[in-house]
Amino acid sequence: MEKMIIVGTGCAGLTAAIYAARANFAPLVLEGHEPGGQLSTTTLVENFPGFPEGIDGPDLIMGMKKQAERFGARFEYASVSEFEPADGHIRLKLDDKWVETETLIIASGASAKWLGLPNEKASVGHGLTSCATCDGAFYRNVPVCVVGGGDSACEEATFLTRFASKVYLIHRRDSLRASKIMADRAMNHPKVEVLWNSIPTEYLTDAEGEMRGLKLQDSVTGAERELEVKCVFVAIGHTPNTGPFKGKLDMDADGYLLQHSGTHTNVPGVFAAGDVADRTYRQAITAAGQGCAAALDAERHLSHRV
Ligand code: NAP
Repeated sequence: MEKMIIVGTGCAGLTAAIYAARANFAPLVLEGHEPGGQLSTTTLVENFPGFPEGIDGPDLIMGMKKQAERFGARFEYASVSEFEPADGHIRLKLDDKWVETETLIIASGASAKWLGLPNEKASVGHGLTSCATCDGAFYRNVPVCVVGGGDSACEEATFLTRFASKVYLIHRRDSLRASKIMADRAMNHPKVEVLWNSIPTEYLTDAEGEMRGLKLQDSVTGAERELEVKCVFVAIGHTPNTGPFKGKLDMDADGYLLQHSGTHTNVPGVFAAGDVADRTYRQAITAAGQGCAAALDAERHLSHRV
């Protein structure tokens, strides 16, 4: 029986791991499908307190992991496929084995959303991606586009100007959702052109299945156009990773876990932290704060049982 299992190694999971490890619980931390979470695929993080010049997302994550390991956190590459609240403890199926734990912190984060257009799955990796940091450097001196109007889309568009000859930012409305500083940075870059009121309707691929463009429809006039780009970067937000907990933990209509008091879910001993439960703030620092709170809540739960 484990004392504490933490699902996820983004900012929330790793901060929970640091606190739980320092409290001598030697938590088992599950890395899941996307180790390091969203920060591991981002570039410079400029708003995490304590780094006046900013810090690269992967470096920040690596530092947190080392810090948790130093205090005795144990890491395992495994994903939760089933979840069963049992009598006073929790059973989890990890890939092909069952484990039991007294407390569980779910910090499994959120994964990129896709547009849902035909041919989407087949095009991923052939000029369609959701990660500019991972794939931007493959598209040097060619035109590319980013779909979305939030901070992620603006950040990716600005990042891609390092490589691409031109970056189209495609947004379905006539104003961006992004914060002013991120929007200004993208819109003021000479390589970035914003295409307003533009809805992607089809991925255009060549005979080999490689991306050659994107079909767009003007949401005001209905007019269609074909935009020639070598890569489409989709940055339209994320979906919480709560699949194994459906029907067993309280969630909102979009699948975000509900916290009933502090980080407590509706099942005693199960706590939620970070983007898996936060549709409002979704920042690295708020996720870290929730990870800390979840570890403290779990610690109190354990001490009340003794
Ligand atoms: P977001 O804020 O939810 O924005 C998603 C964007 O995609 C919106 O502009 C939305 O359009 C558009 N969109 C959604 N579904 C679409 C569809 N099917 N077709 C076309 N467009 C679609 O997501 P995000 O940009 O990933 O940001 C998430 C959170 O992370 C935010 O809190 C943000 O502040 C934070 N973040 C912060 C930083 C930073 O500070 N360094 C960087 C990245 C993200 P509408 O506007 O019309 O809804």
